[in-house]
Amino acid sequence: MKQQEEQTAEKKKNKSPEKPSIYSLKLEELKKWLTANGEKSFRAEQVFDWLYVKRAASFEEMSNLSKNLRDLLQEHFVLTTLKTLIQQTSADGTMKFLFELHDGYSIETVLMRHEYGNSVCVTTQVGCRIGCTFCASTLGGLKRNLEAGEIVAQVVKVQQALDELDERVSSVVIMGIGEPFDNYDAMMSFLTIINHDKGLNIGARHITVSTSGIIPKIYKFADEKTQINFAISLHAPNNEIRSRLMPINKAYKLTDLMEAVKYYIEKTGRRISFEYGLFGGVNDGVEHAEELAELVKGVKCHINLIPVNYVPERDYVRTPKEKIFEFEKTLKKRGVNVTIRREQGHDIDAACGQLRAKERKEETR
Ligand code: SF4
Repeated sequence: MKQQEEQTAEKKKNKSPEKPSIYSLKLEELKKWLTANGEKSFRAEQVFDWLYVKRAASFEEMSNLSKNLRDLLQEHFVLTTLKTLIQQTSADGTMKFLFELHDGYSIETVLMRHEYGNSVCVTTQVGCRIGCTFCASTLGGLKRNLEAGEIVAQVVKVQQALDELDERVSSVVIMGIGEPFDNYDAMMSFLTIINHDKGLNIGARHITVSTSGIIPKIYKFADEKTQINFAISLHAPNNEIRSRLMPINKAYKLTDLMEAVKYYIEKTGRRISFEYGLFGGVNDGVEHAEELAELVKGVKCHINLIPVNYVPERDYVRTPKEKIFEFEKTLKKRGVNVTIRREQGHDIDAACGQLRAKERKEETR
């Protein structure tokens, strides 16, 4: 019986969606598809308006399209394959969403409420293969890449929740589960769609991409010359600590990473952000702050210090408050641009991967 259940679950996971999501198409791709199907290309802008401005829930609602065109779209696409399983709101307003995908996997999306606006943190993969030793998302390995439309739909779903409050998604960060540069093409399509003025119209300077440091893709991204904010998960001032925290450092060494960073800055003229998680007793000493200041000397950058949440499956502990401030002070004294990230959504498991891990446990009970 158990074996039969497992086989059914496996079959479900390998199933392709019957139809692709229309959110996967960039405006130019939709134009091409429409002309190839005997329609005028300007219809693409009308469809985009329904998808991203009016945020229609069905093709049927698209009343300025002919019945034929609505049927054609219906025949070839679905709007979204995402189903909301959980929507939680924290005391500080943070909203966390758990979505089910067409093949039964689930992903998380977080909406953070700041004084300066609403920021959505999206997921780009089911699981992750990078293996950072502090991260619950990597425990089950990589299951699959998300389609562009599955990433776009996360923002649309959050925007639909905000529509009820008459508010707007003002920024997007690609810092959820997964390594975006490991799913590069879908990530780039996603960026084009949400940035397009006929799409969700989220300005490039209000979008942030974060990578664990896949060096060849950093060069590729630099050559795209976008105005999108770029962040690197650094987490250590030297190779020894970084390799312990992030095994990817064994393949892409810190010195080579810093070379790629300099190339990015030179190509784009933009500043880079370094994410630095503070792990008690591992990388949070004054000597580490001094080494870090030396590493980024002369680099146009900003450092985000992140007091790391305790992850039940991992052994890392939080850095005490006074040590966090001392770390910050040491960097500031050396002329480094630095801030401490405010934590949000504590009461709803807002740390990367926690909600999904919890859900998996519930599922396997
Ligand atoms: S921190 Fe990010 S890159 Fe590292 S394992 Fe977790 S999801 Fe992957």
